[in-house]
Amino acid sequence: MSLLKGRPISPGYAVGQAFVYGADTIDIPRYRLPPDKVEAECRRFYNAISQAKKELERVKAYVHAEVGEEEAEIFSAHIALLNDPKYITRVEEYVRSQQINVEQAVEKTITELAEMLARMDNDYLREREQDIRDIGKRILRYLIRHPGFPMSNLPPQSIVIARELLPSDLLGIDREHTVGIVTEQGGEASHVAILGRSLGIPLVTGIKGLTQRIKTGTRLLVDGQTGEVWIDPTPQEIEGFMQHKQYYDHVSLLTVAEESRECITQDGVRIHLLANIGRPHEAAQVERHQLEGVGLFRTEYMCLDEMTPPSFDRQFEVYKQTIQILGPRPIVIRTFDLGGDKQPAFLSHHFELNPNLGMRGLRFSLSAAIDLFRTQLRALLQAASLSPLLKIIFPMVMGVADFKQALNILNEEAKVMKIEKIPPVGALVETPAAVFTIEGILNLADFVSLGTNDLTQFILAADRNALEVIEDYSVLHPAVLRAIRQVIEVADRKTRPVSVCGEAAADPWTACLLVGLGIRELSMSPVSSSRVRHALRHVSYRELERLAQEALASESAQDVHKLIAGLAARHPLEEHEEK
Ligand code: PEP
Ligand code: MG
Repeated sequence: MSLLKGRPISPGYAVGQAFVYGADTIDIPRYRLPPDKVEAECRRFYNAISQAKKELERVKAYVHAEVGEEEAEIFSAHIALLNDPKYITRVEEYVRSQQINVEQAVEKTITELAEMLARMDNDYLREREQDIRDIGKRILRYLIRHPGFPMSNLPPQSIVIARELLPSDLLGIDREHTVGIVTEQGGEASHVAILGRSLGIPLVTGIKGLTQRIKTGTRLLVDGQTGEVWIDPTPQEIEGFMQHKQYYDHVSLLTVAEESRECITQDGVRIHLLANIGRPHEAAQVERHQLEGVGLFRTEYMCLDEMTPPSFDRQFEVYKQTIQILGPRPIVIRTFDLGGDKQPAFLSHHFELNPNLGMRGLRFSLSAAIDLFRTQLRALLQAASLSPLLKIIFPMVMGVADFKQALNILNEEAKVMKIEKIPPVGALVETPAAVFTIEGILNLADFVSLGTNDLTQFILAADRNALEVIEDYSVLHPAVLRAIRQVIEVADRKTRPVSVCGEAAADPWTACLLVGLGIRELSMSPVSSSRVRHALRHVSYRELERLAQEALASESAQDVHKLIAGLAARHPLEEHEEK
């Protein structure tokens, strides 16, 4: 047996045998065209595009019906690419100027665009590289009449192993027989990750050299919670793993059935569950999962793939749409959290040695991106007239001075717009600086939310995206927990609401620990909410309070991990009486 460790992307347990997928092996015919065949060759290209569009419309309708609106939107983006005149003209130009067959021209164009995106200093755009290549393959399939899709008919209990997968690979996959996926590449924010989660397939990425180490037919175990992959496990290991898997599958069924119930602990403490979203249509998930509202709208997602800054009108439209979908529920909208790993194409950034500690978040909004910040505040003030439950939150607050400065700018814009009623304004606490100055921040802020993703990386000096320090990056580290507790104590004393909107809230047992520390509001990716609700409904607050005290006094993240594993083990959830 050998054990590999990657990044867990989609939870669940998989037991099966490897199917090593080599999706990149389309043989491209290469030949030169006689001059009188050039026009016919271009027509062949238009025809392939129109067939690819029809197929995509079909796939989109299927995904909309079977998976959800959000996932179907991926295919709108692909259809838009097929309509993009820049792309079409470039292929035509190659055919005409170099007199090469259209398959070669498509390959050249796609490679150029994909390489350009891969070089971008921006995670979001880098991940769009996959979409470009996906589109290229689709057109090539029509041009070459490439025989059927090799993953549509897999042996039972297949665990797909690939260097990288594309969204369409995942949609054409034999869903019935695919129990897990492991890839070498692919980020958490990639479309494949979103699809994997919503299809409920355990998915692990970030294992280098995977496709060389594993052969089709190798027995594997995949743990989508920890990112562990066992190669050729022993019978005892399979048995132990199966016990975890059966329990996980059983709880999944129970939790979904329980979504309509209140999130309240056994001893009557009510916890508010909200959604983290990045696009307006995701607000529909709030109702689907019976959540109370949106606890974090990451507005910078609307900037990342834009070539021009979003105007007042465009932003207002985005906020309006979101509010309309959400109905009379609360929404916390975060001002643009740009910089770091979120660099929009339209804002030219100076080279930074360490962008995570550079021009980002509120610091960036108050300096180089000040015009964009003011426009956003105006759009938010206007949107607040549509919802009395809209709140604004500033990201990466460092203390009183920057928070005050941002607040002053908001007041100035409100004055210009002759708006008297300013919505509540909060601070994201995600830096040690904000923790140490929380008292002063809370003299000004109406509420705070703990951004545990960044807070953890800054307290522990461990990059949240780096596989190399994955063992050191843990919200369970006592230093992080003490910081969280400190913020809660001050917020309670000042009777100001405090929530958690980092990924820590999405893990059921970490969420329980946060409640034990004093948190009453958790905001998370909607798909994670049913398990969190289920866990919280089956524990008592008194027990969580004790657990939190022990965790605060612990020496290491590993010790705290043991504590929450103990909590999980003490609560075989299905055995509890329903309320
Ligand atoms: C966080 O840091 O926890 C957070 C919510 O912000 P983001 O994940 O968008 O950086
Ligand atoms: Mg953050």
